[in-house]
Amino acid sequence: MTDKREWQNWAIGRIEADFNRSADTHLIPLPVPSLPDIAIYLKDESSHPTGSLKHRLARSLFLYGLCNGWIHRNTAIVEASSGSTAVSEAYFARMLGLRFIAVVPHTTAKAKIDAISFHGGECHFVDQPCEIYDAAQALADELGGHYIDQFTFAERATDWRSNNNIAESIFAQMAREPHPVPNWIVCGAGTGGTSATIGRYARYNRFATRVCVADPQGSVFHRHWADRSVERVDHPSGCIEGIGRQRVEPSFLPDVVDRMEVVPDACSIAAAHEVSERLGRRCGGSTGTNVWACAKIAADMADRGMSGSIVSILCDDGARYSDTIFDNDWLAECGLDILPQKKKIAHFFDTGTFAAG
Ligand SMILES: *Cc1c(COP(=O)(O)O)cnc(C)c1O
Repeated sequence: MTDKREWQNWAIGRIEADFNRSADTHLIPLPVPSLPDIAIYLKDESSHPTGSLKHRLARSLFLYGLCNGWIHRNTAIVEASSGSTAVSEAYFARMLGLRFIAVVPHTTAKAKIDAISFHGGECHFVDQPCEIYDAAQALADELGGHYIDQFTFAERATDWRSNNNIAESIFAQMAREPHPVPNWIVCGAGTGGTSATIGRYARYNRFATRVCVADPQGSVFHRHWADRSVERVDHPSGCIEGIGRQRVEPSFLPDVVDRMEVVPDACSIAAAHEVSERLGRRCGGSTGTNVWACAKIAADMADRGMSGSIVSILCDDGARYSDTIFDNDWLAECGLDILPQKKKIAHFFDTGTFAAG
């Protein structure tokens, strides 16, 4: 056996041992007492060791890179990331003794940059979000490193049929609920990897579950879903970190998405505040986007006299956003008045009716 293979065997063993020490994430109910026949649940991905759903992705990307023979003993790992993916990848890079550099927009929340350094990663800043891809490839070329490229590889690095992917875990945890097969699973799209995994898994297992992607108003994804010729938008995709893009990422698979809900940023933030109060702990902005779409779907179902369940994702912890979406001065600087939306979403939880607008 070559020395290369020996190191790769060791590296894969380290990642598998880490997985073996980990517990699955919880599926927590989000009660809406006025809708007793519709159950909403959140898959709590904030409880991973690196605090977000990107922990799953980072693990898959490292295993994919190792098993493809792309990552070796001294390979510097470079990523284009608006934050969360880089935090999780820094964790795995350190575990394997590899240098890790995240290429991030300079607007990234400070708490995320601190989290990247906490896990031993470095940051390379660019001005515009759209520059991260080319900058990451250039940096990897310059260092003789590997651009791990979440946006290209998210959908194929994840085992969509099994390996306790997020979908398999959700369906297993729903087994003893009153409506074990969710009518809808609602998620956001950043890479598009989560929606791809859930959509493929539901089809493979012939579940009636449909997939809804909750997309920020500025994002290209819902425009592309409606008209496949739309590949990018020129305006910024909004301020909800982790989701909404200016270009259609290669890992976004529109054919497995059954519905898109467009959610303005003020609504996402209002819903993040509301769900944080209801759960007694802070959740990130993209969780708010999901919850806004869940409210709309639940109210639609109730209108039509349906019963059933809706599962969505608590993507990350709100502690990362204490100086952005949970900071009143920051909201005022961005010109975001979330009060009217906060009233609407609170009204939904109180009455089960929703005037999403
Ligand atoms: C990446 C991310 C998402 C979206 O997940 P994808 O699988 O990349 O589409 C949602 N919320 C947060 C906080 C994220 O970091």
